[in-house]
Amino acid sequence: MIEEHVGRSESTRCPATTEVMMTEYKMLGALPDPVDPVRLDLTCELAIGHEGRHVGLVVAAYAGNQLWWLHWAGQHRDMVQSELCDGRDPDEHDDCLLPYRHRGAHSFEIRPVHEPSDIAAPPQSGADRASAHWPVAPRGYQREAG
Ligand SMILES: [Zn+2]
Ligand SMILES: [Zn+2]
Repeated sequence: MIEEHVGRSESTRCPATTEVMMTEYKMLGALPDPVDPVRLDLTCELAIGHEGRHVGLVVAAYAGNQLWWLHWAGQHRDMVQSELCDGRDPDEHDDCLLPYRHRGAHSFEIRPVHEPSDIAAPPQSGADRASAHWPVAPRGYQREAG
């Protein structure tokens, strides 16, 4: 038996990809304090089937305080600076890593295209989870006709 995480709504990630163009690279590469180098190959970070243009994070400049995203659709490309979405998964305390007012599902609802295999299990924090009393149907309850 393979246990799958099916208890919540999940979407597949949009497979659209693009390459950052040299003009875009030069502009964003000039920004100070990038957290990671400017990405050259982008994969759309929205859920598959989303409306509007594809979106990918290109660089987090100013030590992560200024996020730049590429929005693209065919030949139309725009560099957009945007804050992160304020969406949050109440169950697992995951923050959404998509731009503010993005389309479609939050990032924590999107299954990654490539399953990460080298990630250690997250540390279990606190066992003080309140146990919910789920209403249970009486066992052996049978409705008698008449
Ligand atoms: Zn997309
Ligand atoms: Zn979101």
